[in-house]
Amino acid sequence: MKIIGVLALQGAVDEHIQMIESAGALAFKVKHSNDLAGLDGLVLPGGESTTMRKIMKHYDLMEPIRAFASEGKAIFGTCAGLVLLSKEIEGGEESLGLIDATAIRNGFGRQKESFEAELNVEAFGEPNFEAIFIRAPYLIEPSGEVTVLAIIDGKIVAAKQANILVTAFHPELTNDNRWMNYFLEKMV
Ligand code: GLN
Repeated sequence: MKIIGVLALQGAVDEHIQMIESAGALAFKVKHSNDLAGLDGLVLPGGESTTMRKIMKHYDLMEPIRAFASEGKAIFGTCAGLVLLSKEIEGGEESLGLIDATAIRNGFGRQKESFEAELNVEAFGEPNFEAIFIRAPYLIEPSGEVTVLAIIDGKIVAAKQANILVTAFHPELTNDNRWMNYFLEKMV
């Protein structure tokens, strides 16, 4: 069985644990760098990227997570997780630098703080994925290394690069397991 950690400092942790378990893998909460040993993959959940970064730095997790990725282990970031994984964050905040694109935080504007949208995801085929966005970011300026997996209003909202998968929305808040299955089958 594959063993997937969920960074459990802040944000939507339990929902990811349920999604991992219902996709047939084992889930563990990660709070310290020691918890990364033995994992096959890691999820960085949604929440508040500024707060999450502060806590990650406090627990000295930034470098160990970069090292985890450079060992070839897979990482799936949703929403704030996408922000933290991107190479740059608009405004210059520090990031993990693992997906070669720039994140625009809260990129859908105030009146669109939270919304649902149907995404056509070529990698999944039919039906469309019903995506839930909450103060969602999006990506711009992906390098040639990045594969774009979903776009809405011309904005990149799902992408992957080597062993890193990111979505600007929250698959863990739906019953549709296709993103977690994709992560487990194709990337971990
Ligand atoms: N707006 C948040 C941020 O930039 C992300 C929101 C979320 O994860 N739902 O960190």
